[in-house]
Amino acid sequence: MEKECNRCKELKTVSRFATRTDNNGALRGVCMDCFNKRIKEQRAGYKKQVFDHYGWECKCCQESIPEFLTMDHINNDGYLDRMKRGWKKKLTSKDLYYMIIKEGFPDRFQTLCQNCNLGKLIGDGVCPHEKICQIKK
Ligand SMILES: [Zn+2]
Ligand SMILES: [Zn+2]
Ligand SMILES: [Zn+2]
Repeated sequence: MEKECNRCKELKTVSRFATRTDNNGALRGVCMDCFNKRIKEQRAGYKKQVFDHYGWECKCCQESIPEFLTMDHINNDGYLDRMKRGWKKKLTSKDLYYMIIKEGFPDRFQTLCQNCNLGKLIGDGVCPHEKICQIKK
């Protein structure tokens, strides 16, 4: 059995269409390829909006390669955001970007690279970069 995708207008076998859990298992109108592509585009869009606001550069080491950049909870209160939503798991970056946009870019976030974000985590809230700078001063 084949079905036409609403988006790319290609005929594909029904196994290429995901079922909707909210609609008695009816097939989605768009094929999985289009569906995944849209999610990817959305995700890229969220990231762009967020970093356009907070800056495309690590606040600590000035790293500016987009793939390395992440959002940091300045006060290390990420657990509050998780608790508010009753999430046991860690926030995914997509969840986080979406939340930041919805909350209107709160100033408790900043741009950090993965290294500094991790450095802050293992350094009790202070990235090892900062400690080195302090020793030098
Ligand atoms: Zn399609
Ligand atoms: Zn950094
Ligand atoms: Zn750092």
